[in-house]
Amino acid sequence: MQFDFLTIFPDFFEPFRTTGVLGKAVDRGLIGIGVHDLRDWADNKWRQLDDDPYGGGPGMVIQAPPVLAAARELASREPAPRTVLLSPRGRVFDQAMAEDFAQSKRLVVLCGRYEGFDERVSEILEPEEVSIGDYILGGGEVAAMVVTEAVSRLVPGVVGDPDSVAEDSFIAGLLDHPSYTRPLDVEGREVPGVLRSGNHDKINRWRLERAVKETVTRRPDLIIEHWDRYPTDVRSLIRRYAPELDPERA
Ligand code: SAH
Repeated sequence: MQFDFLTIFPDFFEPFRTTGVLGKAVDRGLIGIGVHDLRDWADNKWRQLDDDPYGGGPGMVIQAPPVLAAARELASREPAPRTVLLSPRGRVFDQAMAEDFAQSKRLVVLCGRYEGFDERVSEILEPEEVSIGDYILGGGEVAAMVVTEAVSRLVPGVVGDPDSVAEDSFIAGLLDHPSYTRPLDVEGREVPGVLRSGNHDKINRWRLERAVKETVTRRPDLIIEHWDRYPTDVRSLIRRYAPELDPERA
C-alpha cells in the first residue's frame, strides 16, 4: 500500500518512515511512503503558499492553486488513490475507518497548517475529510502519522503475528485484556494465577471476562455501539457486569 503525504514540513516524516514496524514494512516493500513538499508547487520564487484571510482576522490560509496542482499531479499517478484531507471538521477517525482505508491501494494525504486550506480545495477536490479527534493540532502531519500507523498495521504482513492485530482493542468492539510479563511479583502484586495455570480454555475465558469488564467500566459507549456484533458469550458477560447496558432488557 502506498501513502503520499503533501506537507510544508516534509522533515516530520523522516524518522516516521524509517523507524520500527513501519520502517521494516517500507524496507520489505509492503508499504511505500512518498513525502512531497507542497512548496514545490508554489508559483513564486519565495515559495510562499499562505496569504491573509479574506474578511480579516488572525492567521494565514494556504492558497488553493498550489494544493490543487499538487494533489492532481499525485492523483494522476498509478494506482489511483483516495484523497484524504486532515481537518478538525472531518469525520472522526476510528478503527472501522482504518479497516476501510486499508482496503485501498493508495492514499494521498493533505496536511494543513496555519488556519488550514482555502475552502475551494475541499469544494473542488472533494477529498475525504478526516479528523483524529475533537482538539486542534498545529498541523496535519501528526494526524497523518496517526492514520498511517493505524492503517498500515492492518496491511497483511506488516505486523509479524496476525493474531496480535486480530486481538487488539476495538477490533471486536472490546478493549484489550490486561497483560503481564516477568517478574512474577512487582511490589507485592502477583500475576493472576490463572495466567500461569497453563489451562488455555481458562486463560481465554479470563481474558474475555477482563476485556468485557474493562470495556463496561471504561468505555460503556463502545458496548452500546457494538452490541449487535457481539457474540452470545460476550453479551451474557455484559449482562452480568452491567445489565443496564443491555439494549434488549425488558
Ligand atoms: N482553524 C482551524 C484549525 C487549523 S489547524 C479550525 O479551527 O478548524 C491547522 C491544520 O492542522 C488543519 O488544517 C489540519 O490539517 C490540521 N489539524 C488540526 N487539528 C486536527 C485534527 N483534530 N484532526 C486532523 N487534522 C487536524
